[in-house]
Amino acid sequence: MSSRDQRSDDKIPCPTCGNRFRMDETQAPPFCSQRCQLIDLGRWLDEDIGLPHCEDESPKTIDRNLVDGDGS
Ligand SMILES: [Zn+2]
Repeated sequence: MSSRDQRSDDKIPCPTCGNRFRMDETQAPPFCSQRCQLIDLGRWLDEDIGLPHCEDESPKTIDRNLVDGDGS
């Protein structure tokens, strides 16, 4: 089914900019250019740093409740 599609259209959409290009023409697959590859890499690094911060805040809230209840 899909094999017929790949033959007639070699172009694929770039994950970063959405521009359609041929795999043969790009120097940084599956992106249309090296610039788009760097942009996508930057996004991943940004998310990686943001995650640990959120988890760090949860334990502190629980610790507060435990100390407060034990006092009375
Ligand atoms: Zn692109």
